[in-house]
Amino acid sequence: MITNDIIRSIRGMYDCLPKDTFLWRYIEDTIKDILITYGYNEIRLPILEQTSLFNRAIGEGTDVVTKEMYSFLDRNGISLTLRPEGTAGCVRAGIEHGLFLNREQRLWYIGPMFRYERPQLGRYRQFHQLNVEVFGQQGPDIDFELIMMTYRWWRILGIDDHVSLELNSIGSLKTRFFYRKLLVDFLTPYLNNLDSDALRCFYSNPIRLLDTKNINLRNLLNDAPSLLDYLDENSRIHFSKLCQLLDFTDIKYKINPRLVRGLDYYNNTVFEWITDSLGSHETVCAGGRYDALVEQLGGKKTPAIGFALGLERLFLLLSKVKAIPVMNVFSRLDIYLMSLNELMKVKVILLAESIRDTLPSLRIIVNHGGGSLKKQFSRANKLGARVALVVGEKECLINSILIKNLDSGEQEILEENDLMIRLRSIFKL
Ligand code: ATP
Ligand code: MG
Repeated sequence: MITNDIIRSIRGMYDCLPKDTFLWRYIEDTIKDILITYGYNEIRLPILEQTSLFNRAIGEGTDVVTKEMYSFLDRNGISLTLRPEGTAGCVRAGIEHGLFLNREQRLWYIGPMFRYERPQLGRYRQFHQLNVEVFGQQGPDIDFELIMMTYRWWRILGIDDHVSLELNSIGSLKTRFFYRKLLVDFLTPYLNNLDSDALRCFYSNPIRLLDTKNINLRNLLNDAPSLLDYLDENSRIHFSKLCQLLDFTDIKYKINPRLVRGLDYYNNTVFEWITDSLGSHETVCAGGRYDALVEQLGGKKTPAIGFALGLERLFLLLSKVKAIPVMNVFSRLDIYLMSLNELMKVKVILLAESIRDTLPSLRIIVNHGGGSLKKQFSRANKLGARVALVVGEKECLINSILIKNLDSGEQEILEENDLMIRLRSIFKL
């Protein structure tokens, strides 16, 4: 049956329209430029992986694995998953290609992630992260470097007043195993007070309850034992050295003993950059150490640390708190070329190509689809062009071009060579 119903995008997945891509490019380019100056290399990874990779890496009891993954069987009956996060795939690739063998790696990648969550402002089912991963470094100096690099991003983007750093150490697996029992013992008398979500978490991953948003539970947990009090010697030294390094800088950080991450693979340092400028308390960037993951996925034991920057939240934050002048620079057109008939049109197209050869940085559009000169001028204005170039009958006869500065209204007729000189001076090239 033929229907005329409009097909819409999938819930929680959005289209990034041209009005927004300038800001996206600005954010991405700023961040990438800084990554390069810190010596990081890009890696590009598939969006689809075997489901078992995420089950093993992220942890079977986590929200991401139990509730949020987009998994399906391919035509051979193999279970595949659209990546909900990047680290597992990056570690998989590193092991597969021997990237970690007696070598340090400082890597970054950017791209879409997929989680089946309830969509709302700043939370989507397809969202984008920029991830940074470092392999082969014990820290805490590298932990510090990563935090400093993120801080530089905020300063260059002009949002350092709108984000704050929270830091914690969740110790070793052994410590957490021990602490988990203490927390369970503490909470057991209060099970009747827990709602169904909290109860499920209590049985599957009780430590995650520490960062619950439920006020009653938060109050209850105020009296719970603190994981920080049970760190072993190594974790304690690691954490205090990191804090000492941060104390040399002007970064204000808060140690938040409740900060635990949603993925099971973290140990020792965990951190989040939080903002209150998006309405509620939101995490923009989050990460930590994951020293056991490479081995857990079949590689040689390799210390590692990484974090993910949520690009939608960064985008929202920048749009909200900062007027971005670059948008005008990007969205303006430099030159609009017009002509009156087919013969002149050929001249104009060739002229546009020759300007592109001589002055390659200019943004140039040639009028297509004809129309009166009046109509063509109005298109030029709509596109925000700074200069209009016209080849009319008179110009065609004397082999020259009319140039009109659309900002000042001045116009004159020039030969091609002089035109290039004039364009250089207008655009300061
Ligand atoms: P949250 O507590 O907000 O659900 P998370 O702990 O699940 O975050 P991570 O897995 O650490 O998030 O992902 C790192 C960053 O990616 C988050 O801090 C956030 O900025 C962004 N992020 C995570 N999930 C989403 C989503 N569904 N939509 C948009 N951004 C997201
Ligand atoms: Mg989440």
